[in-house]
Amino acid sequence: MRKLDQCPRVKINSTYCICTVQSCNKRGLCCECLHYHRQRNELPACYFTPEEEKTSNRSVEFFIQRRTGK
Ligand code: SF4
Repeated sequence: MRKLDQCPRVKINSTYCICTVQSCNKRGLCCECLHYHRQRNELPACYFTPEEEKTSNRSVEFFIQRRTGK
C-alpha cells in the first residue's frame, strides 16, 4: 500500500499545500514533508509566501532573512 493511501488527512492536507513541486511524493503527507525539510535545516513550502516558495529556497536562514531583513 502506498503511503499516500495510508493517511486519512492526505486530501485535506493537499488543499492547504502551496508547494509547486507537483512531482514530490510527500505532498499531503505533512509529517513526512516536515521531517524531510527539518533534517536539512529547512521549512516546508507552506511557511513561505507564494513568491518566496517559487525560489525553491526552503532554508531557515532565508525564512528569517525575509522576515527580519537580516
Ligand atoms: S515542501 Fe518539500 S517535501 Fe513538502 S511537498 Fe514541497 S517539495 Fe515535497
